[in-house]
Amino acid sequence: MARGKSAVQKAYTPNQQILDLWPDITGSQINGLGETESGRPRPVFWRTDDSISHSAALQYFYKRDVDNPRIAESRKYRQETAAIPVSDIAPTTIDKSAAAWTEELKSKTLELGADDVGICEYREEWTFEDRPLPQGKFAVVMAFAHNYPELNTAPDERAYIEVMRQYARAGDTSKHLANWVREAGHFAAAKTGPNTEDVLMIPAAVAAGLGELGKHGSMIHRKLGANFRLSMILTDLPLLSDSEDVFGGDDFCMRCQVCSSACPPEAISREKVMVRGNTKWFVDFDKCLPYFIDNKTCGICLAVCPWSRPGVADNLVVKMARKREARLKE
Ligand code: SF4
Ligand code: SF4
Repeated sequence: MARGKSAVQKAYTPNQQILDLWPDITGSQINGLGETESGRPRPVFWRTDDSISHSAALQYFYKRDVDNPRIAESRKYRQETAAIPVSDIAPTTIDKSAAAWTEELKSKTLELGADDVGICEYREEWTFEDRPLPQGKFAVVMAFAHNYPELNTAPDERAYIEVMRQYARAGDTSKHLANWVREAGHFAAAKTGPNTEDVLMIPAAVAAGLGELGKHGSMIHRKLGANFRLSMILTDLPLLSDSEDVFGGDDFCMRCQVCSSACPPEAISREKVMVRGNTKWFVDFDKCLPYFIDNKTCGICLAVCPWSRPGVADNLVVKMARKREARLKE
């Protein structure tokens, strides 16, 4: 059953059981809301160890659906992909030009199942401040589209299962891609959301040309909208970087409030705010996460984003290009 506007729960009041597990420090404080100094990010959620303040709330979330066979099955597939063994780095290195490796690696990534791929140089500022800098000069970032009708059931469990399915696909592809590079004698390590443990994926995806950051705090891709998940590999393979893809997503968000209005706990800031030295879109974790945990999933903001609806993004890209041209002529 697709989620209709009338089904969107408004004026959400957080469940007291979850609030009792909430730490004294807020997610916004951890994230650096209002901080004018730039700095490395700090983790709020999605860590497998207890190095986060919100660990009790995360464990509560994982235990909620332990008896649901459909959810257990979707988690099992993801665990199986996480358990794919890492190949040894071959002692003999295959050498090619950066252009040749770039072409071959992108083609291999799509063959392994990704729906899009981009490359950028990895930046130190994407590493959580409590973790060492990872090895790998380049980030190869991949996109994996959801089945939109399934995502559009959010916040039903069907949407959660679809998200898990795509994280599993993302994990499977990044693991096999990293192994393919390692078997050619070069370093590569796979990273898959949401528990990447040490690195932020979204800023790397923006730098790698996969899209723009949307008001809902997720990416907007020029074809997939917000209807996808990410994974990446870090590698020392010689590669050529892509450029950022600025097609009007951010500009569109300046005049759109669809996700902010649809979010039951009103977690999505309607304006950009200062976060660790950058003015950017911001989602209030202390509103989003209690709803997400209480409801066992969410993703409403991704499903309602106009860019996510199949067949719409192409037209919006053209519309935004026309607007840009008209502005330049003024
Ligand atoms: S995922 Fe979070 S931000 Fe998005 S609609 Fe749900 S509660 Fe709001
Ligand atoms: S729903 Fe509108 S404001 Fe929100 S991310 Fe999508 S385009 Fe931007």
